Amino acid sequence: MRVGVLAIQGNVREHKRHLARVGAEPVEVRRPSELSDLDGLILPGGESTTMSLLMEEYGLLQPLRERAQSRPFPIYGTCAGLILLATEVVGLSPARLGLMDIVADRNAYGRQVASFEMSLPIPVLGPDPFPAVFIRAPKIARMGAGVVALATYQGDVVMAEQGQYLVSAFHPEMSPDTRIHAYFVEKVRKARQAEGS
Ligand code: GLN
Repeated sequence: MRVGVLAIQGNVREHKRHLARVGAEPVEVRRPSELSDLDGLILPGGESTTMSLLMEEYGLLQPLRERAQSRPFPIYGTCAGLILLATEVVGLSPARLGLMDIVADRNAYGRQVASFEMSLPIPVLGPDPFPAVFIRAPKIARMGAGVVALATYQGDVVMAEQGQYLVSAFHPEMSPDTRIHAYFVEKVRKARQAEGS
């Protein structure tokens, strides 16, 4: 399974390392041509405005959107990646993929509590909580009926999925725990199987 990591900003190396640990082949993606033989894609965290501008400059937004809408193509957006996947963004909203029925509120945790780490229960991963690192994290302000909440923190949904799309407000690549990458790669495997049958 070839899983791309958008290599514009953020912890590209850490995502690649986690993907390799769970048995996928990680591929750095910058150009539209690099999308053709991928089975899925991770959008790392960073700064969504910068990522958006560069994705436009590299001509990635439209090809990626088409790829995801025409064939099975799971995408996992972490933090800024969540903002890029959201159909709506509160306030200043960057150009983005807009594929998942969520409203993202950028920097919703504010400056004071800009970054923190906590033990987050994520039932789909099993009984052990996940060491979740939040860095200037966005919040999911609203989500559509087709979106499933996978984890909540202080009443806010911080991890969710809708069909082939997965998002988390936190950075799973910053802890040694690879369960979320394994969960995503399993989604990619199922999508590939569905396409093949
Ligand atoms: N809040 C940031 C943004 O608007 C995202 C922060 C992150 O990805 N760590 O892009």
